[in-house]
Amino acid sequence: MTAPQPTTLLVAETVADVRAAVTVMRRAGRSVGFVPTMGALHAGHVSLIEQARAECDFVVVSIFVNPTQFGPNEDFNRYPRPRERDLELCANAGADLVFYPTVDTMYPPGHRTFVEVSGLSDVLEGQIRPGHFRGVATVVTKLFLIVLADKAFFGQKDYQQQMLIRVMTRELNLPTEIVTCPTLRDPDGLAMSSRNAYLSATERQAGLCLSQALRLAERSFASGECDVKQVEAAMRGMIEATPGAVLDYAVVVHSETLCPLATAEPEMVALIAARFGTTRLIDNAVFIRK
Ligand code: AMP
Repeated sequence: MTAPQPTTLLVAETVADVRAAVTVMRRAGRSVGFVPTMGALHAGHVSLIEQARAECDFVVVSIFVNPTQFGPNEDFNRYPRPRERDLELCANAGADLVFYPTVDTMYPPGHRTFVEVSGLSDVLEGQIRPGHFRGVATVVTKLFLIVLADKAFFGQKDYQQQMLIRVMTRELNLPTEIVTCPTLRDPDGLAMSSRNAYLSATERQAGLCLSQALRLAERSFASGECDVKQVEAAMRGMIEATPGAVLDYAVVVHSETLCPLATAEPEMVALIAARFGTTRLIDNAVFIRK
């Protein structure tokens, strides 16, 4: 028997259509890869789709601007939704199926079931964006249970998010392996983000202080600095000295627990967030000390 071969990009808007397409592939013995996104795709998203393509037989991408992860004063309404361009990028990157649900499909009226990962949800991004990770955990759980992929691909760019999803997947026994892929950057170091489109030229220039502060921390640890508070102070100093940058946090924490550190550890991550005009940017760097 010959296995079914997807030829063109399939677009599904209902849960039943996604399940039907995935079931056909699964019965044919194909592995399924999944890349959840909010659309407004850029090369960072494309790299995740390409990685899924390299590791799995059938690649599902979801495009859903998830209302439950946005705060009341955040950018849910203005978040870019370039549908045709996104579908073209998915097709070119090798996706087989795009799940493009409506808000009512994901959250039918009266929806009241949510997933919370306590602790990890409440610090750093979660402290500044209350409810954000509850929305992320809920939508990712729902998407995981719809797609039932073998592997799901996330960006290191959203470090706290991928760590929370790893913990949630393990604790809920979801049958999907989490793969974290490197952050893609513009040539000048700015981490790619759909929100970069909001930045004016001046704000974009100021935004470079994030990756510069991470490089400063990297150099500092490489030269033997062990005092984490010194390194955090240096990162904060660099961001606060940048006109137009308003710092939310710049910390070095344990790379799994995200707990604060006093002295350097074998595995640490620097996490930073700052606002530039009305746009909030985040970035991070993982440090492994031998
Ligand atoms: P989003 O559409 O912003 O929800 O992101 C969807 C996925 O793309 C998440 O796993 C992000 O971490 C990942 N992602 C976003 N920006 C980048 C980037 N610059 N490099 C790699 N992955 C990224």
